[in-house]
Amino acid sequence: MKRQTFLIDADDTLWENNVFFEQAIGEFVARMEPLGYGEAYVRRILNEIERRNTRQHGYGVGTFRRSLEETYRRLAGELARSDEWTWIRDRAREIEHTPPRILEGVPETLAFLARRHRLILFTKGEPLEQGAKIGRSGLESYFEAVEIVPEKDPASYDRTVNRHKIVKESAWMVGNSPKSDVNPALESGLNAVFIPHRLTWELESAELTSGAGRLLLLSQFRDLRLHF
Ligand SMILES: [Mg+2]
Repeated sequence: MKRQTFLIDADDTLWENNVFFEQAIGEFVARMEPLGYGEAYVRRILNEIERRNTRQHGYGVGTFRRSLEETYRRLAGELARSDEWTWIRDRAREIEHTPPRILEGVPETLAFLARRHRLILFTKGEPLEQGAKIGRSGLESYFEAVEIVPEKDPASYDRTVNRHKIVKESAWMVGNSPKSDVNPALESGLNAVFIPHRLTWELESAELTSGAGRLLLLSQFRDLRLHF
């Protein structure tokens, strides 16, 4: 097979990510119950605040902490208690130091692909935070390059394509997010492999759109070996 280029997403494609945030949100929701707020309402306020904060401050655990704090301030008002601020700070720190949980079949599949193709890790977030996760994952050696961008939009795809002299027709973006991986890749003329994750962050959901490239849907990462 002809050598192709793969841009590969990291969070919830190579390793678990959103599940750790979801656990913390579940606990946060339970802590808001004594104030008289139900789960749906707390999540709606948090989503609203996160959507604004990610636009302004980017993605990552720092923004998550800020969003929990703002949500708590909004919900508790005068009733805010210092132990809740401490809980939010400690919980965010805990997520930051959680060791990566690599998804099943990922290392073998990366080893397989790296022998045949060019692999570039393409992730969004805060450079220090994502860089540390990549370092601890032990997967970095499979990649020719690592790109950490603030947002995965068509412009950031185009910059990465130019920097690495990628031929779009023979390149694929692989990831779990319709909003960040599939749609902007197809829009900029790349092909895309969509591997849904059962716990994808709500803010990553979007209708799949079509573009110039081809779209392949796989149920697990290791299935890449059947196609490439
Ligand atoms: Mg992802």
